[in-house]
Amino acid sequence: MTTALRMSNLHVPTLREDPAETEISSHRLLLRAGMIRKVAAGIYTFLPLGWRSVRKIEQIVREEMEAIDSHELFMPFVQPAELWKDSGRWEAYGPELARLKDRHGREFCLGPTHEEIITSLVRGEVRSYRELPLSLFQINLKFRDEVRPRFGLLRGREFIMKDAYSFHATQESLQEHYEQQVRAYGRICERLGLSYRPVEADSGQIGGEVTTEFMALADTGEAELVYCDCGWAANVEAASTIVPGTAKDADQKEMERIHTPGIHSIADLAAFLDVPQYATVKTMAAKDADDRLVFFCIPGDRELNPVKASRAVEDATLLGEEEFDSYGIPVGSLGPVDPPANTRVIADASLRDVVSWTVGANNDDYHIVGAMPGRDFEVSEWADLLVARPGDHCPRCESVVEGARGIEVSQVFQLGTKYSEALGATFTAENGSEQPFIMGCYGVGITRSLAAVIEQHHDDAGIVWPISTAPLEVIVVPLSIDDAEVWPVAESVWRAISESGVETLIDDRDERAGVKFADADLVGYPYQVVVGKRGVAAGKVELKLRATGERVELPVDKAPEMVTRIVSEDRATYHL
Ligand code: ATP
Ligand code: MG
Repeated sequence: MTTALRMSNLHVPTLREDPAETEISSHRLLLRAGMIRKVAAGIYTFLPLGWRSVRKIEQIVREEMEAIDSHELFMPFVQPAELWKDSGRWEAYGPELARLKDRHGREFCLGPTHEEIITSLVRGEVRSYRELPLSLFQINLKFRDEVRPRFGLLRGREFIMKDAYSFHATQESLQEHYEQQVRAYGRICERLGLSYRPVEADSGQIGGEVTTEFMALADTGEAELVYCDCGWAANVEAASTIVPGTAKDADQKEMERIHTPGIHSIADLAAFLDVPQYATVKTMAAKDADDRLVFFCIPGDRELNPVKASRAVEDATLLGEEEFDSYGIPVGSLGPVDPPANTRVIADASLRDVVSWTVGANNDDYHIVGAMPGRDFEVSEWADLLVARPGDHCPRCESVVEGARGIEVSQVFQLGTKYSEALGATFTAENGSEQPFIMGCYGVGITRSLAAVIEQHHDDAGIVWPISTAPLEVIVVPLSIDDAEVWPVAESVWRAISESGVETLIDDRDERAGVKFADADLVGYPYQVVVGKRGVAAGKVELKLRATGERVELPVDKAPEMVTRIVSEDRATYHL
């Protein structure tokens, strides 16, 4: 198929100025390069160039799925509530799930993910272990009514995802396919030109125990990760690092209540007592599902990880300021000594060796020093409660870990039997018994990946596409369109390049050279063939490489062949 496009009839509405409310480069450049337009918060239209790049990402993902025998189907975006009620997620998903009713009052939702649909499909179709393993995927819209849609395509409400689901008779079979998916996800990142890291992660709303996220490294990423030279890496939400042994008070002391007027923060308390912040203990109040009070105790210099907290105590939510009064506790100065009756005290495991705690006295303007667990108060449970951070130690090799930020472009999960049990999806095993399918699921954010590529590949002038995701590979730029020498050369070069299978656009607009150059760099076509009067007189055109800015002169008659060769070599590095 030849792709020979004319700028004059392709809609590429580039913008000179930075649009308002664009905090990060990919959002700004997608708008400025005329690739997307906003329709509502987190909802976008893809213009022709943007859509071309989306389709390229989809194609790479599709090829990698087919290579591991996962096959494409297409499921509905609108899903009946019954399935979600059966899985328990109609309740659990919360306001991110967009719900609607049809004219008969039946309830539906817009699919944020498709475990329910696929499990009910396979439940009705697959009867025997002989038909397993089975891996199916789709590329489809998703809708999640995100609290804070932002950063353009990075956190949209409507977005495109590739989601694969696999069904197995045994855990070994799941493990094998999971590993294939992990390798495929690595190849997808490489082919998209993303520098990335697979990390240990939390499974969130999807569930399951074993999961890996693929992080495109970027300072603008919302995710924080920690990693170690030994190869271990994790999202800070999930990382169980070793908290370095600080010089915490290990001596037994008398417990003492001290007057600390006006001290409401750990920083103030540490300064007042002239001790480091890590030598104090911060207590945070939460409630469990039965509204029972929970105190989480962590080292004073650390942050409570809400994901881990809600794992330690199911459904724990931190108290809002207005709730403190009803529990009879002050907003500051909380501590594990003499809490209200029935309070559960959950302390971070790193505090286990600390004999003498500096804590709040559950009384404004008072703190307690020298409090000893077991003697002066009880800890109901020790748990890992902290947000990991650089400087902690690697759980595998104990070296000091470093930090980075990333964009989660994809995630794979071993689901086990969570959905098959809830939805009664069973098959007949080899021994004749009925067993629930063992499942995995695997998601790639297609539109988020597009934004991640731009985050990693841009400069002051615009986008610098890896050829694998560029909307078009070559642009031919005639510096004049009504010149009797220039235009015919430009047109024949454009045709010849496109006829050899390279996607080529000609900038046939009656615009100044400066405007054409700026637009070509802004959109970031990897190869620009510039055709000017002086060059043509000498039998030459100029090839500019967007990535390096390098320019080379090519003889007019050889130009199409040479450009085609350069493009093919470039494609080959991305396995295209
Ligand atoms: P996040 O933690 O960023 O909200 P998630 O973990 O909830 O994402 P998954 O359920 O793992 O997302 O979905 C699979 C993939 O879909 C993600 O890795 C991401 O690439 C993409 N994705 C998820 N939410 C969004 C969104 N709001 N906008 C764009 N892409 C998204
Ligand atoms: Mg995820």
